[in-house]
This record gives sequence, C-alpha cells and structure tokens, in this order.
Amino acid sequence: MPKIGSISFVEKNLKENQFKIKKKFGQNFLTDASILKRIVDSAELDKNTAVIEIGPGLGALTELLCEAAGFVLAYEIDADLIPILNQNLKEFTNYKIIFEDILKADVLNDIEHYLKEYKNIYVVANLPYYITTPILLGLLSKNLPIQRYVTMMQLEVANRICGKPDTKDYNALSVWVEYKAKPTKICKVPRTVFVPAPNVDSAVIRLDVYAEAPIKAIDEEIFSKLIRQCFAQRRKTLYNNLSLAYDKIYVQQMLDNLGISPSVRAEVLPLSDFVRMSNYLTQNQK
Ligand code: SAM
Repeated sequence: MPKIGSISFVEKNLKENQFKIKKKFGQNFLTDASILKRIVDSAELDKNTAVIEIGPGLGALTELLCEAAGFVLAYEIDADLIPILNQNLKEFTNYKIIFEDILKADVLNDIEHYLKEYKNIYVVANLPYYITTPILLGLLSKNLPIQRYVTMMQLEVANRICGKPDTKDYNALSVWVEYKAKPTKICKVPRTVFVPAPNVDSAVIRLDVYAEAPIKAIDEEIFSKLIRQCFAQRRKTLYNNLSLAYDKIYVQQMLDNLGISPSVRAEVLPLSDFVRMSNYLTQNQK
C-alpha cells in the first residue's frame, strides 16, 4: 500500500474501488503527509483524548488519529466510502464511523454513548468546505463538552474566524468565535495538495474553547442575533444596521446608555461592546 496521504494512496484507493469523487460533498482528498502530521501534532493528542472527525473520506487523517488518540468518532455522509474505510482502518479497533450528515447528527448523544470515559474531546478534521461555517457554528453554539478544534478550511473563512477589529476580515463569525474560543492560525495550505484541487487555498486553525467565557452574554441567542444584525450591511453604521431590526428610539437609548457612538461601523467594535449591547437587550426587553 502506498504511504498514507500521498497522491498514489488517493489514486490507488479511487481506482481499486472505482470510487467516483462527489463534488457535492466537498470531497477534496489531502495528499501531503507532512500537513496531515501537522494537523495531528497541533491537536496535541494522547490516549486519554477522544477525537471527533468530520468527513474521514478515504481515512488518511483517521489512521493517524487512531494512532495518536484514545478513540476516534467520525461522521461521514457518503456511504460509498464504507468499504474503503473498512479496508484502510482494518488494523485499528479504537474507532466508530457514523455514516450520517454531521448537520443532522445528535452529537451530544453520540458523545455520551461512545466517548464518556475520555478526559478530553477534540474535533480534528479536514472539513467539507461547503458547510464549514454551519458545522463550526452548530457545534460551538450547542456548548458540547469539546475543548479544542483543529480544523482545515478555506483560507478566507480561516481569516474571518481569526479576524481582529478594524480589519477587513472581522465580521459576525469572528466575534462569535472569539466569544467562545481562543483562535490560532496553524498554517496555510496550498490548493495543489488536494485531489481534486479546490478553487481556493486552505488553512488549518486551532480553537481552544473557553471553559467559562471571559465575557458572558446572558442570553447567547440574543447575542448571536445581535452580532449578525450589527454586520448585516458592512457599509452601514451600527445605528442603521440595528434600526433595521429593532425600534429606532430603543436603539438610540441603548447606544447612549452604553456610551457607544451610533455612527461607528460594527467592524471597529471589540467583543466586549457586542456583549454589553446584547446584555442590555436581554435586560431591557420590550
Ligand atoms: N478527511 C479526508 C482528507 O483529509 O482527505 C477528506 C476530507 S474532504 C475535504 C471532506 C469529507 O467530508 C468528505 O469525505 C465528504 O464526503 C465528507 N462530508 C461532506 N459533507 C458531509 C456532511 N454533511 N457530514 C459528514 N461528512 C461530510
């Protein structure tokens, strides 16, 4: 068998199994063993740690995860990959693959069923790019017992997630992730190391989830809605964006009360201002 994560590993698997790559599932298989290793090393795994992988594909990353972690729970939407994954992971017993759409899975229930004896639970994955944001937002907002995410995604989304105030990358996603976790960029990954090559470059990022948010929004649903509204139209002022969803007088009162200028744009505000606005809305609901 060729070395895992190499071009010949991917080509052999596809050919021998007559597997047709499905673009609709974001199937871009990684063919660079050093990047696979970088992902696994950045997660800092041990045998007391269980990993949740989303989209094992041909199993190249999964194999390294089975070696480094106590257990791997993987979600794969494409049941045509069953024989390939069974073959490539045949020397391991410490894994379970659930053939299901991650966006429909009851992850908390699966964690309780398969991973309850593990001290740490980390997500480590080369994500399907067409649903990167819903996967991350979905898992983070459910407050699952997951302490860390090491994930590959398109570079543009990675930049947004790690975006800082007053830069073009800073948006609602940056604010939401910053509220939940400490983001770190691990490395950029060129499109040329995938089969087939996607149209964009990628990046690996790590999110260390806060056990307790440093600044607490009383109601996270109100917070989430508020940040989306603040960034609804990038060129509009904070006041104008908020007035599209909330009563104008109420918005003016809130901004006066909190000492936030109505004419600023959301992209210059730090996380603490969004939390203060959210908590004002929660405590002064009409
Ligand atoms: N881990 C492999 C690698 O690094 O080469 C494959 C990564 S590929 C970018 C994304 C994988 O996610 C594919 O195997 C695809 O079938 C799977 N996938 C796509 N949508 C999914 C979903 N909604 N739920 C679970 N898996 C999904």
